[in-house]
Amino acid sequence: MNEDTIFEKILKGEIPAHKVYENEYTFAFLDIAPINKGHTLVIPKLPTRNILSVDQKTFGHVMETVRFLAPKIKEATGADGINIGINNEPAAGQVVFHLHVHIMPRFIGDGKKLWPGKEYLAGEADIVLNSIKKLL
Ligand code: 5GP
Repeated sequence: MNEDTIFEKILKGEIPAHKVYENEYTFAFLDIAPINKGHTLVIPKLPTRNILSVDQKTFGHVMETVRFLAPKIKEATGADGINIGINNEPAAGQVVFHLHVHIMPRFIGDGKKLWPGKEYLAGEADIVLNSIKKLL
């Protein structure tokens, strides 16, 4: 349980947020520090740390809300595209430990870059692939 995150406080109405949408399972609100205007966070009402521990149904509800909202946010903001992002654990940039999906409006020439890719050395792709497949 993540009783004390800022997002629980938003869910309980203890601190204000610009609510975009709400249903039985999920809540969506404007990010306080948007990458671009309209940047929205979708969270489950059930406290859940991140994608590494969320149950299938809860994640399904969250992603359905993301699917519902993304085109509407794109249209409302006049964005040219949308990034969908989830940061999981501090190494991946997670700061608030209540699962949240970022819906980020993007504009041609907005200057925000995606992360740079790097190359596999010989044999590295097979090694990591085998490690992943062993767990499937
Ligand atoms: P993370 O890095 O954990 O994926 O992203 C957390 C996000 O929550 C950040 O983009 C940050 O701007 C947003 N955020 C943090 N505190 C608040 C808050 O009190 N209200 C709102 N609306 N967003 C917040």
